[in-house]
Parts: sequence; structure tokens; C-alpha cells
Amino acid sequence: MYPSALKAVQMEALKRSLSSLLGSVIVGPMLKAGGITIHFLNDGLWWDDGGAQFGIVPREIWQREKQPNQRGRITMSLTCPLIVTRSELILVDTGIGNRLSAREQQFFTPRRGSGLTGQLRVLGYAPEDVTHVVLSHLHFDHLGGVIDKADDGTITPAFPNARVVLQRAEWELATQPPDERIAAAYRHAPECLEPLANMILIDGDTTLTAHVRTTVSGGHTSPHQCVIVETAGTGLIHFADIVPTTAHLRLAWNAAYDTDPLGTIAAKKRLYAEARQKNLWVSFSHDDVVAAGRFSNETGKTPTLAETIPIAPPSET
Ligand SMILES: [Zn+2]
Repeated sequence: MYPSALKAVQMEALKRSLSSLLGSVIVGPMLKAGGITIHFLNDGLWWDDGGAQFGIVPREIWQREKQPNQRGRITMSLTCPLIVTRSELILVDTGIGNRLSAREQQFFTPRRGSGLTGQLRVLGYAPEDVTHVVLSHLHFDHLGGVIDKADDGTITPAFPNARVVLQRAEWELATQPPDERIAAAYRHAPECLEPLANMILIDGDTTLTAHVRTTVSGGHTSPHQCVIVETAGTGLIHFADIVPTTAHLRLAWNAAYDTDPLGTIAAKKRLYAEARQKNLWVSFSHDDVVAAGRFSNETGKTPTLAETIPIAPPSET
């Protein structure tokens, strides 16, 4: 059973009516908690190297969980929670967006349809309505959609009225990378950050609104942050890249991209304990099946999911 104050609402009727009105644009289920609604928007599917995603885990083991294609790549989503309160529209991360070069598109082969903007419009919102964009970190698959790149190359903020909230230390890493590895990881950042007029740089764990806060996890990048919603005895932790897929729920299954894998493990332990203690749902940045889930009552090191919410299919427009 769902916690009493929280219901995963199947939007089948809405999907059908919207599909008939708007072609095949579909937005998946949502969570309702207290006066807050959380939609799990998806900027689409993309493909990334399975070995990079699973680090030291042997392929023979991880491929039982995520089957690679002929190029050794696994299917990834770009789940971005949209937290709707009475007065705010808070988007967590922005996906890849439409800015990749032709060469990058060949590598990552994103299939994003109308992306986050299209899914917002299906819900009845415009990009101008988004009040906050909270960035977990500044890698291209979380930051890219913060800008819109027109066919003529003109770049504008994708959510022009939003305050873009990020850790100051993450901004410093991206703009003044201390070594070649970090510089490569943030090579996309200057183009995305330059047009943003309304950036809010925060230092450490920060309360954003009455029910929404961020907590610095470290691990994936040293200032990586997760977003936590707490209301009516429940809520959500968005893991972002601390637990990018359900397979990464295992403590030792971590991406080769993580600059501090031991920090990732420590963050997982802390966040799992908080989710269990406070009856919070959890959501994943890149799982190709599950957008969010609720832990079962088992207390093993690796949580199992008692209930799940599927990813929203990419909007094909
Ligand atoms: Zn990512």
C-alpha cells in the first residue's frame, strides 16, 4: 500500500485525452504528497558506455542487470523531477537538451522528442512558468537543457524566469577546473552557464522553500547535491548521479565517472537511512525503466523497491 498521504496517480485517462489532442506526447505518472505534486519529466533516452557507468564491476556481472547493445552501451533516461508547490515550479536538472554537436549526437544518440519543454506544455505549463532550476551538478547530461540552442546557433536560457540554483563549489570546478580530467568532464559547462543571468550560488546544504532542500552528497563530483522534498510525513530524495539506475542501489556499484567512489558509498548509506527513516520515495537520474520507487521494509545493505513509478516515455513530436 502507498503511504496514506502519498499516492502514485496513474494518468491513463489524461494520457489518452492529451494524446488525442497533442499527438503522442505523453507524460508519465506523478506523486502527490501533502500540497505538493511531483512529475517525473524525462528529457529522453540516450546511450552511454556500460563499463563507464559501472566502474569496477565486471561486465559479466552488470550485463545481467543492464543489457548492453553491440557497441557496449546501455540505455539511459534523463529523469528530471518537477516539484509543483502552491507558488513554485521547481525543476531538478535539465537533461541533455538540444545543444549537442553532430559528433556528440552520433556517440550518445539521444532520442528526446520535444524534451522537457514539450512535457511541460502537456502539463499545462510554459518554460516561463518555472521558478527554480536546481542543478545536482554541471555535467552535460544534467546541465545541457538549461539552454535552448536555435537552428542558427543562438543560445538563450530555456527557462527564462527561473532562478538557477547550484553549489558555488561546483560552479568553481566547472569554470576553473584544476586538472585535465575535471576540465574534460566540464567541457560543456561554459556554453551553458554563460547565458544564465539569474544564477544563485549556494554553499552546502540549503533550504530552498518550506518543503524543498538540497544536501551535498559528494562522490560523483565533490560538490554534487541531491534534492529532498519533505511534506506530510513523506516526500522524495532525488539521488541524481549518486544512484543513477536501480542497479546502482548496490553500495559498491558506482560509475567510473565518480571522482570519489568512497564518498559515493558514504552518501548512499546516509541517504538510504534518511529515506527509510522518513518514509521518502527515491528517484533515479538515468534508469531506463524506473523513475522513482519506494523502499521495501527490508533493511539489507542494498535496498529493494516495493513500488515503482515508470519513466515517462520520450515525447515523439
Ligand atoms: Zn548523469
